[in-house]
Amino acid sequence: MAPTAAPVTVRAPAKVNLVLRVGRPRHDGFHPLNTVYQAISLYDDVRVEDAGRWQVSVTPLGDVDCSTVPLDQRNLAVRAGQALAAHHGLRRAASIEIGKGIPVAGGLAGGSADAAATLVALDRLWDLHTPDDELLALAAELGSDVPFSLLGGTAHGTGRGEQVVPVPDAGSHWWVVVPDATGLSTPAVYREFDRLHPDVPLGSHVADPVGLLAALRVGDVPRVGAALTNDLEEPALSLRPELAERCALVRSHHDGPVLLSGSGPTLLAHACSHEAATATRLALLEAGVPVVHVATGPVAGAHVVELAG
Ligand code: ATP
Repeated sequence: MAPTAAPVTVRAPAKVNLVLRVGRPRHDGFHPLNTVYQAISLYDDVRVEDAGRWQVSVTPLGDVDCSTVPLDQRNLAVRAGQALAAHHGLRRAASIEIGKGIPVAGGLAGGSADAAATLVALDRLWDLHTPDDELLALAAELGSDVPFSLLGGTAHGTGRGEQVVPVPDAGSHWWVVVPDATGLSTPAVYREFDRLHPDVPLGSHVADPVGLLAALRVGDVPRVGAALTNDLEEPALSLRPELAERCALVRSHHDGPVLLSGSGPTLLAHACSHEAATATRLALLEAGVPVVHVATGPVAGAHVVELAG
């Protein structure tokens, strides 16, 4: 019987896609992506401790509706824990407490953040020292965004998004994050993309975003803003027409680019300074938008923040 260790807490960030280009589905059903991720300062905190069976609980951190997060084996954090235990041939289980600051089903990869945080937390709790390449491979099996949640910073993603390479990012970016009360199903948005774009050639791979990568390298924040683009915005707006109105409202209160986050429905306004982002946030709150966050990026990926005991 392994000794019981002190609980471990790991913090993992939300992600935004600076560029998200989508190709035609591959034979395995996944869409090839060419994307640039950035980790931003909205976080979930995941605390793990030894337990006789797998358990998970979720507590909102601030204004986050957690009611749709599954509290059983479907939770991505539990799946991550079980995958790590199986990888090491361990018959151990853990209790996982998620403090959720990342809006749910918003295109910000909150579930992926929890999976990455759980991998890092249990690796520490159980003193496993899993090599980085094995942790990244486990993460990729759990979901396309999970490897990036481990990595953080800014990274170029290809394959189905799981092949990630860090990219130099010399700037500081500010994001006004406008969640929607009702989540949007990622598979439904991809299906709508296919319906709207039946003629994308099979095997076509969208070109690397060289202009954006160059602007990131030299820290040209306005030029990064000008290069932001998301192929999933059109299908998400097609499924959720009222999002276009919300988008127009955000644009009318923000002097800068506005785009959909991932598969949505969260909207993002990009700003060059904290002051500009805060001004947009206040204007949107005054205009009646109930929840608006301000975040900065890039920030670190999943990392231990506290060792209790
Ligand atoms: P996707 O990764 O599918 O693009 P997303 O980033 O839009 O998703 P998430 O917050 O990851 O949004 O939630 C997507 C769905 O995953 C939720 O509706 C929920 O049912 C499920 N889910 C499973 N585990 C979790 C978790 N730990 N946190 C949030 N959602 C989870």
